[in-house]
Amino acid sequence: MKIFEPHQVIFRENALEYPLARKMYKKFEEEGYLIKKAPAKGRLPIDYDKTFQQKYNQAKKTILVAVRSTNNFASCKPSAHYQLPLISGCPAHCHYCYLNTNMGKAPYIRIYVNHKEIFAKAEEYIAEREPETTIFEGAATSDPLPVEKWSGSLTEAIKFFAKTKNARFRFVSKFTEIEPFLNLDHKKQTEIRFSLNSKHIINTFEKGTPQIDERLKAATMLKNKGYPVGFLIAPIFTYPDWQKDYEELIKKISLHFKDEQNLTFELITHRFTDRAKNIIEKIYPKNKLPLDKNERQFKYGQFGYGKYLYPAEKYHELENYFQQKINDYLPDSKIKYFV
Ligand code: SF4
Repeated sequence: MKIFEPHQVIFRENALEYPLARKMYKKFEEEGYLIKKAPAKGRLPIDYDKTFQQKYNQAKKTILVAVRSTNNFASCKPSAHYQLPLISGCPAHCHYCYLNTNMGKAPYIRIYVNHKEIFAKAEEYIAEREPETTIFEGAATSDPLPVEKWSGSLTEAIKFFAKTKNARFRFVSKFTEIEPFLNLDHKKQTEIRFSLNSKHIINTFEKGTPQIDERLKAATMLKNKGYPVGFLIAPIFTYPDWQKDYEELIKKISLHFKDEQNLTFELITHRFTDRAKNIIEKIYPKNKLPLDKNERQFKYGQFGYGKYLYPAEKYHELENYFQQKINDYLPDSKIKYFV
């Protein structure tokens, strides 16, 4: 699996007031990356004279180091109470990616450097809900792992939550560079999940991501270090061999995790928005995604825009199938939700 190499790294000038940004600047410089500076707000020093597709691809190869407003954190149902906004964006090119809805045509990989302020805001949310436990999701608008070697954001979050009462952290990834986490004193307060899919779906739609075996190996290493681990099977598609292929996947997981008592599953069926469909068709014109609205049911989601889901009958068939197979192969695991 090729490791992510950005084409350029842009630092907002106000980000450079933070020690983390200065440390990253030095590291990117030593590693020979193209570095640019930009004002705190406004246009970036990039080539805007490009087609839509070229601009999208340019953004996927651009890291933007910035300061995150901490006015509020978005909610994050059903995976957590709040998003923890440390990173947004992802360098991979999964055709179905949900980021096509919320990041649109300029999916820069943003690293936010004001960790202390972000964690302080998290503490406010935790205090509001005490004595209940508040759960934060670190991958709501990103796959944060490909930039961890520069940002250290997840490492900081794991350390922060290890010493914070009434709170837990979780994030999900398709990537496997988990070495920074292996020797952290995480106190089981961080749950790391891997997003998996059938081999057919990975090979057809998930461009630039590691294969199933690599993800399972990373999950096993984390499990052996005491982390709570889990799996997202997402997005779930129906296609001619879906039952056989998904059974093969669940069987494979069971070979690695059959003795694990606290394994969790999160199951998300494929859905798309008008905005995502529009972008996907421009960026990946030859994609084979099932994006025919006539074959879907329309529903409003938590952020106010509508989504096209599988129709009720198919949805229930999928739900029953996954419940049955996970129960057959991994009876001690827990399905957190099926959506
Ligand atoms: S790995 Fe996740 S965040 Fe990255 S492109 Fe694929 S679906 Fe999107």
